[in-house]
Amino acid sequence: MTDIETLSSAAMQGRKTGSAGAELARQFIIQRYTQLQLKAFSQGYQQVFNYGFGDKKAGSNVLGYLRGCRYPEHYVVVTAHYDHLGKQGRKIFHGADDNGSGVAVMLALAAKLRQNCPVYSYIFLATDAEENGLYGSKAFVAAAPVPLSNIVLNLNLDMLGRPDRRGRLYLTGAKRYPQLIAALEPAFSKLQFLHHRGPGRMVRDNPRYDWLNASDHGPFHRAGVACLFFGGQEHPHYHTPDDTWQRIDKAFLDMAMQAVWHSVQWLEHQAPPTLQSPAA
Ligand SMILES: [Zn+2]
Repeated sequence: MTDIETLSSAAMQGRKTGSAGAELARQFIIQRYTQLQLKAFSQGYQQVFNYGFGDKKAGSNVLGYLRGCRYPEHYVVVTAHYDHLGKQGRKIFHGADDNGSGVAVMLALAAKLRQNCPVYSYIFLATDAEENGLYGSKAFVAAAPVPLSNIVLNLNLDMLGRPDRRGRLYLTGAKRYPQLIAALEPAFSKLQFLHHRGPGRMVRDNPRYDWLNASDHGPFHRAGVACLFFGGQEHPHYHTPDDTWQRIDKAFLDMAMQAVWHSVQWLEHQAPPTLQSPAA
């Protein structure tokens, strides 16, 4: 909650890509990575990239990793975008749920994983420029610090702090792992499993939902990396100045954290080929 409050504070001005507020958010995430003793790849914690046509715009991902003990050359990439919409006039779009919540859960996951050396290596990737076209995750996939074939899974976290009107949290991409669904289903009654249609775009349970463009897992999926996407769906304060930390549902956030942790515990017990198996 403290991390969500900091990321969505007025000082960070809605964390629009390229703004001073986004720079402050980056400095905060770097400080948290340092506290968590995450390792940096050769270029340091930041991955600067350009995007857009003509007048190129710049964004910057923040990434660090924990080295695994059993399969250190196999990586799980945990993604959560830290950018948001910035301001309109004097109104700040705080982006507490979208996506302070995902970044906070990612940091909490790093803190838990580092207590015992994990089986896999984990890259924690806070992406920039998600809101205007998933550019941070595209940049990572285009210039990953490890071979894409060594990435066994992308675990994407986006909007974990607010239930939709049915009180639900959604997990997309688990169809290839029936044992994971079996492990989660009894413990998480509010977790709804969505199944995307293989290489297609739509989710069977909600044909209007464009799964590949919904968040940062899309570029990973297109590059052939298996994905699990934990996300909330739109709520009345989605993409409004009212997405504030005071409106985060702590019980829901806690449930989301537990569901993510359960999933990670499950995947820590699987061999790399099980995770990498092609989408069902
Ligand atoms: Zn988002």
